[in-house]
Amino acid sequence: MAAPGVIRRLEETVVNRIAAGEVIQRPANAIKEMVENSLDAKSTNIQVTVKDGGLKLIQIQDNGTGVRKEDLEILCERFTTSKLQKFEDLTSIATYGFRGEALASISHVAHVTVTTKTADGKCAFRASYCDGRLKAPPKPCAGNQGTQITVEDLFYNIATRRKALKNPSDEYSRIVEVMSRYAIHNSGVSFAVKKQGETVADVRTLPNASTLDNIRTIFGNAVSRELIEVCLEDSKFAFKMKGYISNANYSVKKCIFLLFINHRLVESSALRKAIEAVYAAYLPKNTHPFLYLSLEILPQNVDVNVHPTKHEVHFLHEDNIIESVQQHVESKLLGSNSSRTYFTQTLLPGPAISSSDFVKPSVSGSVDKPYAHQMVRTDSKEQKMDAFLQPINKPQERSPTTISADGGTGNQDSEMEDLSDFDLLAVEKAGTSSKTLQKSLHPCNDDSSSTPSRKRSRADSPGEVKEVNSSCDLTAAHFPKRRIINLTSVLSLREETNSQNHTGLQDMLQNHSFIGCVNPQWALVQYQTKLYLINTTKLSQELFYQILIYDFGNFGVLKLSSPAPLYELAMLALDSPESGWTEEDGPKEGLAEYIVDFLKTKSEMLQDYFSLGIDEEGNLIGLPLLLENYVPALEGLPMFILRLATEVNWDEEKECFEKLSKECGMFYSIRKEYTLDTETHMSLNPDQQSQELSSDKSWKWTVEHVVSKAFRTLLLPPKYFAEDGSILQLANLPDLYKVFERC
Ligand code: ADP
Ligand code: MG
Repeated sequence: MAAPGVIRRLEETVVNRIAAGEVIQRPANAIKEMVENSLDAKSTNIQVTVKDGGLKLIQIQDNGTGVRKEDLEILCERFTTSKLQKFEDLTSIATYGFRGEALASISHVAHVTVTTKTADGKCAFRASYCDGRLKAPPKPCAGNQGTQITVEDLFYNIATRRKALKNPSDEYSRIVEVMSRYAIHNSGVSFAVKKQGETVADVRTLPNASTLDNIRTIFGNAVSRELIEVCLEDSKFAFKMKGYISNANYSVKKCIFLLFINHRLVESSALRKAIEAVYAAYLPKNTHPFLYLSLEILPQNVDVNVHPTKHEVHFLHEDNIIESVQQHVESKLLGSNSSRTYFTQTLLPGPAISSSDFVKPSVSGSVDKPYAHQMVRTDSKEQKMDAFLQPINKPQERSPTTISADGGTGNQDSEMEDLSDFDLLAVEKAGTSSKTLQKSLHPCNDDSSSTPSRKRSRADSPGEVKEVNSSCDLTAAHFPKRRIINLTSVLSLREETNSQNHTGLQDMLQNHSFIGCVNPQWALVQYQTKLYLINTTKLSQELFYQILIYDFGNFGVLKLSSPAPLYELAMLALDSPESGWTEEDGPKEGLAEYIVDFLKTKSEMLQDYFSLGIDEEGNLIGLPLLLENYVPALEGLPMFILRLATEVNWDEEKECFEKLSKECGMFYSIRKEYTLDTETHMSLNPDQQSQELSSDKSWKWTVEHVVSKAFRTLLLPPKYFAEDGSILQLANLPDLYKVFERC
């Protein structure tokens, strides 16, 4: 067995060095201690210069009280202080320092030189220290009022510590961080931190700058403009709090929390957690706030003496105080919540519209006077903003470009004459010129298959049906002989649509002012003081679905001027990658033939309920007229036909009607891919709209004058539109006012 070790007394310098290593762990600690001394000495200007992250040199110059010549002797001795005399004084300590350990510790691990001059001293004195002792009597010298302390070769005698701190730039950023925080907390004192030899300081604050100015200088405008001031006084738990916290518009990847308790920079993980929990409800996931909080707690309730670095602080009533701070932060955030701006809005899942949102804002009292920021300049009944934007060059009137069967451009004038009372829609599938399909549609009363009495609305073609009501009323009360549908399946689909209706969104859509199209998929609308981005594709898809369900069995017909062979349509669809056809599915021809035969067996039902005409030869001859002045983009026709045969469950009545209507809604919807590069939309009244036909405005015209009008009168927006991004609130006028006020 090994012999026991001999116990020896450690040399005093070794003891002191170990103790010093605990107080001074790295350059930033040393600087913090010395800056605290400068603040204790009532300095108003503190300048820090460092070399190699403080490992080679730290120099702190202040303009404080200075040190008396006779105190220089014991300045760096352990437990010498001008701040504390009796143990009881600890309960009312108002200075940073109190135990006279900092300078002593530093002098045990570095070479320290102090130059200091008091107000009534005739000159300055310089003294150097080693291991807590004065190296030689202080020498008189020239100097300004205040103290300059130079610390060289930190940890020169602790090799392990020096090795651990071998990254000067890392140390420097810690120094900058600590000093920035002190600068913010001590507005009224000007700070400067720089590397030796550099002229530009990395932290610089001015003597007359406010806390907010300092936050702006150090953390930037992006934070400082999103701050809410907090101020709290609690007599029950005897504490005060002030500071600035970021609102819900601002978030960062890592929480920035500047916490001062009784002016001491500290950490409190309990408080941090409590506050982060409050913010979690307001900020996007995995993002965090900025906080600067200064708490003042009765000194006798705080135990600052728990750790050599004085970094950790415990206090009485900790839980209660934390809860009180938490509640205050919550209340402030709640108050600022309505001022969220565009950026955060788009991160929110939806427009957050509730019916109560639309209650007119009223000022308390009987007078209902709106504030300027609540007033809306236009409403849907008045003219649009477009009216103020007169184009300088009126677009030239052009005849529509048509694509003839051989893929070439036809003689436009003569074709226009030929098609004088209906519009032309040309479709070409890229890369399949041999299969180019040219179709012209015209609305008609297809007497052979659908009696006029069944029609909910009819096309406004010249010389025909003058009394057509331009708004398609769902109830269609003005069509006396409307066919009543009593099919349970259809009734229950209507019921489902009704129950899904979002009344807030419906109100918005009913009363919106159309602003303009962003592209075929998105449009901007205004409602009251709010600006919304609506997904035209999704909304129109749902619109056509609902028309199919509500007007089930009562549609007019869009007749194809020349029948379109289903076989060719099916082949076109199978040729496109969208169909997902693979060789394993068998030859396309066989599939196309099957599709034709199958759809032919359903033609009676399709005709009767959907006005979708298929003739004996397997040609498509008509499509349902769902909305006046609206013809679907025929590029979608081949896929629609394919999906009718493959996606619809024809065995279950309700499922069949639902899916069929959904597919048809998709085919009819306004879609990016069909409207961007081709100009296929047309109106049913060539006299009025012929100039629109070939211009790139045609789809815009349709969205504005046909589709968005139908959103107003026909669409019951389902609740999920508020959550899936189909309708997004971009801005709200009162909030913009707040933003401008802050700027
Ligand atoms: P403490 O701050 O706990 O008193 P320190 O070791 O930090 O202990 O400092 C010892 C003493 O040196 C202080 O009490 C103070 O009187 C004096 N002192 C240190 N730095 C300065 C300074 N920058 N200006 C004036 N006096 C100072
Ligand atoms: Mg001190």
